[in-house]
Amino acid sequence: MLFFTRRRRRRLRNEPLPQGWLQVLEQEVPLYRRLHGEDRDELHGHVQVLLAEKAFEGGGGFAVTERMRLIIAAQACVLLLHREPTYYPRVSSIIVYEEEYLAPLTEVDECGVVTEGIDRRSGEFSPEGALVLSWEDVVAEGLDVHSAYNVVLHEFAHELDAEDGITAGTGGFAEILRRNYLQLKRSVRLGRPTALDEYGAENPAEFFAVATECFFQEPLSLRAGHTELYRALSEYYRQDPAQWGDSCTSPPGS
Ligand SMILES: [Zn+2]
Repeated sequence: MLFFTRRRRRRLRNEPLPQGWLQVLEQEVPLYRRLHGEDRDELHGHVQVLLAEKAFEGGGGFAVTERMRLIIAAQACVLLLHREPTYYPRVSSIIVYEEEYLAPLTEVDECGVVTEGIDRRSGEFSPEGALVLSWEDVVAEGLDVHSAYNVVLHEFAHELDAEDGITAGTGGFAEILRRNYLQLKRSVRLGRPTALDEYGAENPAEFFAVATECFFQEPLSLRAGHTELYRALSEYYRQDPAQWGDSCTSPPGS
């Protein structure tokens, strides 16, 4: 990493949080409320770097406010804690739509038949550099303490996968992910519910993104039902969310 980049990031991380940000984090980001004190301090620094480096745009004329940017960045930065952060180099801009948006879809089945259609999406990460989110889904999932889903964690996990070559890799972590992915496919086929959302059975990349959501949002269920997977994710993220506080704790002042 360039010396100047490293120095600029260090300076940003050491700046005090702008007024009002702490209140937004405490009141509107359940994941933040569950973090221990030193993790919160680390997150404050990462959030300031991410917000300084990434361009946010409103899709379809949607006005993205500072509060929205902060809520999105805080959740994205939870994935960076305890690591040498690279701040999602493959994301050049974050596009936020007011609600689910329509996108063209091309599907190819096993016989090679191509179907063109339109897909409703709550978010996506494009390898070309845009990460897209539906604000309505960010609120419905990330701001609900009882939600097993988190579209922000999901899409940023796709970036980490692309950046680190996780699901395309061959190491022990990739092997554990692949084994658990095949298990989920089998459970879905047999109609057996698991802690993981069945969307993870789509392909290995979706499995990693879904497993990441579950790891942070429902760590106790994941650890109980998928111990090996929980341990592998815990090693990758260098975090143990099952030891965090209770997200149901009321935010201060609410
Ligand atoms: Zn996905």
